[in-house]
Amino acid sequence: MSSTQSPRPQRPSQTKIVATLGPASSGKDKLPELLTAGVDVFRINMAHGSRAEHQTVLAAIRTAAAAAGHTVAVLVDLAGPKIRLGELPDGKLTCDAGDRLRFIRGQISEVPEELTTTYEPLVDELEPGDRVMLADGTVSLVVEEKGDDFAQCKVVQPGLIRSRQGVNLPGVKLSVEALGPVDRENAVWAAKNDIDFVGLSFVRSADEIRSLQSLLELHGPTNRDRRAHVIAKIEKPEALDNLQEIVEAADAVMVARGDLGVEIDIARVAVVQKEIIAVCNRCRKPVITATQMLDSMQHSRIPTRAEVTDVANAILDGTDACMLSGETAIGKYPRETVEMMHRIALATEPMCRERNHHGEPDLTAEGVNAITEQIVYSAGRMAEQLDAKLVVVATTSGSTALALAKHRNYVPTVGVSSSPATLRRMCPYWGVIPLPGAPVGDSTALLRYITEMGRSAGILDPGDRLVLIAGTGLATTAHNMVVVHELE
Ligand code: PEP
Repeated sequence: MSSTQSPRPQRPSQTKIVATLGPASSGKDKLPELLTAGVDVFRINMAHGSRAEHQTVLAAIRTAAAAAGHTVAVLVDLAGPKIRLGELPDGKLTCDAGDRLRFIRGQISEVPEELTTTYEPLVDELEPGDRVMLADGTVSLVVEEKGDDFAQCKVVQPGLIRSRQGVNLPGVKLSVEALGPVDRENAVWAAKNDIDFVGLSFVRSADEIRSLQSLLELHGPTNRDRRAHVIAKIEKPEALDNLQEIVEAADAVMVARGDLGVEIDIARVAVVQKEIIAVCNRCRKPVITATQMLDSMQHSRIPTRAEVTDVANAILDGTDACMLSGETAIGKYPRETVEMMHRIALATEPMCRERNHHGEPDLTAEGVNAITEQIVYSAGRMAEQLDAKLVVVATTSGSTALALAKHRNYVPTVGVSSSPATLRRMCPYWGVIPLPGAPVGDSTALLRYITEMGRSAGILDPGDRLVLIAGTGLATTAHNMVVVHELE
């Protein structure tokens, strides 16, 4: 809204967009385009690139955001305990049904049928009958026999495998630690660089989330409101078994459909997505739906009908944000893909609105503040029924803005805070536009500021109403004041 901002899409979508950066998008010329197209959160995938490259990309994001006058968040996604194949002697191997392959110890294989991995104890932990999935689940093996230094498998589903591809072991309980040394170093780097969100891959328990949060607190701001928020990536069957407690422990959640679709029966991905989103919405946690959303746009300017429907369905399921991966990291059309996601969101959101029946607020979830929930629920309804032009939510930690977002009110909403970190953390919250620079300590000054700003931006006219949600200052823990203001 400020005069220094470069034009964002005419009408921002309520659904937020996360874009993964890579060679196709992290250049200084590309980032402003993506910002203008509507990206709210940039994701740096730590599975690729060096520290120096990550540092350069981070600096480029901050420069681009400052130049555009936009508030954007940065998500650093830790690779987690992903097991990869070692080098294959010929770089690739065609596996036919019934072929025998052996996992062996060590790093180097000289025989095409012998496979090494990045996980040293694999040979010890596999048992006959276990399934091993390679090449994103396109090739599957079953363990037949075990010796001291090998695990022999039979190819069940044939296909081509290549060096360094991921190895998934659905249902196999591995002793691998959630945060290996490289992830720890990357988490410390994130904490020291004031990163907003840190993604933890292959989460299995709430304790893993808590230990990453402690690590971030140890090396960055100790206050929960200021430390990087941890995103639990749900992609393991164990995470589904412990879903409720993981969601309660996490600051945000990602439906990581890539590995999820390998770790569980791919046919269940859609129903599991709906279940995860529902739990996140009940627990008032931001949720991102990820992977292959507009995959064909890596090579094509137009997505498939199925992809358009997938993005729309995720929005109708109640996701706060949708994520682009290869589409923006290595695709030919990063800007066009973001624009397409934005168009699909705009086309879908009116249907969410029709479906939104404003049921009573659900106050059963853990960590929900009953006063805040009632206030935001009532303020949202009031804003709709009074045909308000704007809702303004003043928030210290962002949790009031998040609670408001979860009630899906359709009046344009701005979140204001004295903390730049809180403003950035509001980026993935559905429908909340972070607005820097507002005087939050004094409601009268805040109303005056918003009114003047809205007038000069042509958003507010005499007679228009706006709804302000803030604290009275009498209680420190809850938002307990709603002001309805009519412009003179
Ligand atoms: C996924 O598996 O869907 C995902 C987002 O994780 P990654 O890109 O790290 O594989």
